[in-house]
Amino acid sequence: MKEAAIAVGGNLGDSVSICRDVFHLLGHHPAMDGVKCSSLYRTSPVGDDAGGWFVNAAVLVKTILDPLALLDEMLEIEKGFGRVRTIKWGPRTLDLDILFYEDRQIDLPRLKVPHPLMDERLFVLAPLAEIAPEWTHPGSGRSVRQMFDQLLKTDHGQQIQRLDM
Ligand code: ATP
Ligand code: CA
Ligand code: CA
Repeated sequence: MKEAAIAVGGNLGDSVSICRDVFHLLGHHPAMDGVKCSSLYRTSPVGDDAGGWFVNAAVLVKTILDPLALLDEMLEIEKGFGRVRTIKWGPRTLDLDILFYEDRQIDLPRLKVPHPLMDERLFVLAPLAEIAPEWTHPGSGRSVRQMFDQLLKTDHGQQIQRLDM
């Protein structure tokens, strides 16, 4: 089994219940085990076309799927929740990104791992720091906790609140 982290997010429809459904789906997935879910966060949209506020979370999984099979599975689950790709970074019912896969570095047209923007995104690092603070980026050598602390010091644009439920 390999360890991977998935970012979960959405801002169309009932995003809280969609995130919970995703937790349930991954938790009962035949190719996954030991699933650990973060809290849910409400986060301000990034970019002019993003739409309303997002709900974001992160999930740590152990899986028998290789990276591309895991990506295909995430894209299938997105489709199941009615994800339609219109404008880049536009509103979406569900977005599932692979944040990391073990300490692999993958640079394919359809899969970049670790996710190239993870260290700039509070909505990624806040939930990820709950479930995988010690994971270390194979490129920069920095842990999730270090990336998160750094971003908290430098970033003033992104609003984020943890949902208590
Ligand atoms: P961003 O990558 O900035 O978060 P996005 O999630 O809005 O953007 P999408 O439209 O959801 O982008 O995805 C476009 C394509 O990105 C996917 O079809 C997939 O092939 C590719 N992709 C590359 N790396 C990854 C990754 N680590 N996780 C998920 N998809 C990825
Ligand atoms: Ca994304
Ligand atoms: Ca995506």
